Amino acid sequence: MNEIRVIQWGLGAMGSGMARLIQSKTGLKIVYAYDQDPQKIGQDLGEFLGGVKSGVRIQRPPQPGEMNLEKADLVILATSSFTKEVTPQIEIALKHSLNVISIAEEMAYPWAQEPELAMHIDGLAREYGVSVLGTGINPGFVLDTLILALTGTCLAVDKIKAARINDLSPFGPTVMQTQGVGVSAEAFEAGLQSGRIVGHVGFKESLYLLAKTLGWKLDKIEETRFPIISKVKRETAYVKVEPGQVAGCQHTAIGYVDGVPKIELIHPQQVLPHLEGIETGDYIDISGQPDIHLAIKPEIPGGLGTMAMAVNMIPQVLAARPGLLSMAELPVPAALMGDIRELLAWRKGE
Ligand code: NAD
Repeated sequence: MNEIRVIQWGLGAMGSGMARLIQSKTGLKIVYAYDQDPQKIGQDLGEFLGGVKSGVRIQRPPQPGEMNLEKADLVILATSSFTKEVTPQIEIALKHSLNVISIAEEMAYPWAQEPELAMHIDGLAREYGVSVLGTGINPGFVLDTLILALTGTCLAVDKIKAARINDLSPFGPTVMQTQGVGVSAEAFEAGLQSGRIVGHVGFKESLYLLAKTLGWKLDKIEETRFPIISKVKRETAYVKVEPGQVAGCQHTAIGYVDGVPKIELIHPQQVLPHLEGIETGDYIDISGQPDIHLAIKPEIPGGLGTMAMAVNMIPQVLAARPGLLSMAELPVPAALMGDIRELLAWRKGE
């Protein structure tokens, strides 16, 4: 049986971890690796990942019509957060009849903010007979897919409240900047106004995915963002926060159905929360028949969780119907502990 041939597109913090994970799995093989960073281009992928030579050289990303992809099955995209930015990359993949898994936050449910692009991607995927999925830890799992799975045990749901309280310390400069870490309260406000500070990307996607899957029609979303002002000095590899400066962003979103707040998602993200005695965790409270309460302490690690979700969904995506799909439309995620070719054949009923 031939290995499933994967293209890793984007070799940053997440993409590198995914590439290592793919290399460790039986039945998966990376056949191309792309990144736009000149420092990475030309390196052997295996050596770049800290291992032995793989024979796959990291290349600059292909332009439309430039790719020689007859020998691949699927692209994993780990380049950007936004549907607009990944659409050209997805187009190239689809036009070569390749399935796509993206961790761009907006791709978890692109119908939420980019319905025209979503329709375009869906149409192309159907035309070329392949599937596209957006996933990740959040959006993609904790504040949407996991909640939906729990509601499967409810006769009815009245209200959902969920919180992800996490530590941003492992993340790099881009995340620090978009969360406003290390700036003054005034600079945080100015950053919110200018759009340079955004807090969490993905609330709208999670809310629309939850509502759509439950059969609720959202009529309004309210979001609030506040600076988390540190009382103590905090320092990570990427940022220093003095007392009085911003340690992160307290971001909340509420989805209304018929004027009633039905879904409340809370996501305070900061560096080193334990320095002020804050415990991290993922919490889900469903009011319904029955009420359900889930607490995961500490939180599911964001980096590892994202790498795992992207790779573990490969068989589901390869066995799926053509089109643009969400996590709610695919079978439950599961770790890949056997030969992926056999797992795929089982999913296809072969
Ligand atoms: P990163 O900045 O460490 O890495 C991004 C990599 O992609 C870099 O190596 C960069 O050179 C490369 N790149 C960017 N644009 C490219 C392009 N057009 N072609 C080829 N390479 C390109 O970021 P990361 O931490 O690896 O995360 C990647 C993206 O995934 C980010 O936007 C992040 O917000 C998102 N993300 C989503 C989730 C989720 O839960 N859905 C979780 C983690 C990260």
